[in-house]
Amino acid sequence: MEHQLTIYNTLTRKKEKFVPLHAPHVGMYVCGPTVYGDAHLGHARPAITFDILFRYLTHLGYKVRYVRNITDVGHLEDDADEGEDKIAKKARLEKLEPMEVVQFYMTRYRRTMDELNVLPPSIEPLASGHIIEQIQLVQEILDKGYAYESNGSVYFDVTKYNKDYHYGKLSGRNLEDVLNTSRELDGQDEKRNPVDFALWKRAEPEHIMRWPSPWSDGFPGWHCECTAMGRKYLGEYFDIHGGGMDLIFPHHECEIAQAVASQGDDMVRYWMHNNMITVNGTKMGKSLGNFIMLDEFFEGSHELLAKAYSPMTIRFFILQAHYRSPVDFSNEALMASEKGLDRLLEAINSMDKIIPSEVSDVDIKGLKEKCYEAMNDDLNTPILISHLFEGAKIINQIISGKQKIDPTDLELLQEIFQVFFFEIMGMKQEVAQDESREEAFSKAVDMLLDQRMKAKANKDWDTSDYIRDQLTALGFEINDTKDGYDWRLK
Ligand SMILES: [Zn+2]
Repeated sequence: MEHQLTIYNTLTRKKEKFVPLHAPHVGMYVCGPTVYGDAHLGHARPAITFDILFRYLTHLGYKVRYVRNITDVGHLEDDADEGEDKIAKKARLEKLEPMEVVQFYMTRYRRTMDELNVLPPSIEPLASGHIIEQIQLVQEILDKGYAYESNGSVYFDVTKYNKDYHYGKLSGRNLEDVLNTSRELDGQDEKRNPVDFALWKRAEPEHIMRWPSPWSDGFPGWHCECTAMGRKYLGEYFDIHGGGMDLIFPHHECEIAQAVASQGDDMVRYWMHNNMITVNGTKMGKSLGNFIMLDEFFEGSHELLAKAYSPMTIRFFILQAHYRSPVDFSNEALMASEKGLDRLLEAINSMDKIIPSEVSDVDIKGLKEKCYEAMNDDLNTPILISHLFEGAKIINQIISGKQKIDPTDLELLQEIFQVFFFEIMGMKQEVAQDESREEAFSKAVDMLLDQRMKAKANKDWDTSDYIRDQLTALGFEINDTKDGYDWRLK
């Protein structure tokens, strides 16, 4: 596979050439959603970022195994191993089985991702389906001496681990920083040190999501699932692990510690993280009222939204920023994106009208190379989009007769849009959502039938029969009434 793809590795803090461990195979793991509510804007960004990577690696010819998990157990409300399980809490409030909550929101999550044209991953494992693997991981860490049992729960011994390895190498934090920011919470007396994190938690009697283990009836700590499932489906060493920047600490730092403690080595070669999304300049938060669900964008039903924005507008807007830069959502910015997307689509659709010339005075080969350069530079989609706009400009110049293109270049130009815009960026044509199209069609039928009425009044039976027969053949049912006519599409 000849390519120059470089990706930014959070671990080494630099862009590195992408060389997979076992070409042509690539193993890629991305932390998926905790399914206790509808997908919001914050879910769209990692899904789209790693969808682009999945699509591009596939385009380069790799056979990618993309694992994106569903967290359905063990994600507590508080990062310090306290608080209620998010799924169990929702189940309690709604008087549902936890698995009903999971099934409901998982189905809705997949539907929303489908609307955003995010491809499904190769494997989408559930944490609750991998309790045995997680128990095994905890046992391995205990056997290696980097964990301890306390009152039926098992905790990772961060201090001991940090003597032999480096806790904080991904996030750049040192143990002292972590200690200073760790809060003393109720129940933390089970831990030897507040920086330790739970590998297994003993369930309180009222806790419904529980499984038997050598230590207690309980449930796994949140960080275990990704280490256990990554290893199960991608092996002890795999290429890429991705997620949002907010997961670097503690989640991914803990994943590294678990892998190193159990197998003596980190599993992952490239750690990739997408930046976060703000709304009108502020961080999204449930209490701030700017927590906008994706469905609310599609329907325009949130009070902060001036109108509805289609899934492709959201996707295009997200891709207009580099995945490592922050993105700020505002009505102005979204409307600008929508306009830009319309201009691009208009140009793409008008390519069919181009009549090629004998010669070209446009550089299409150069344009294609620049598109690859942008993607190879750590998936630089904003630069790629600027090149596609350049392509749109060329199309418009040719149509207005200011430039010429020969058949070979025209084919290449069509290929550029097919490959980069549709296949790699994952954009698709959207049918107009509004009813204006339908209305226009109805008016055209009315116009024809008005003509038929006039023909009848003039005793021009040929014309009146012709219009009726043609419309009938197209599937319209036409009835003469005393005031004129009536029609419907059968
Ligand atoms: Zn994870």
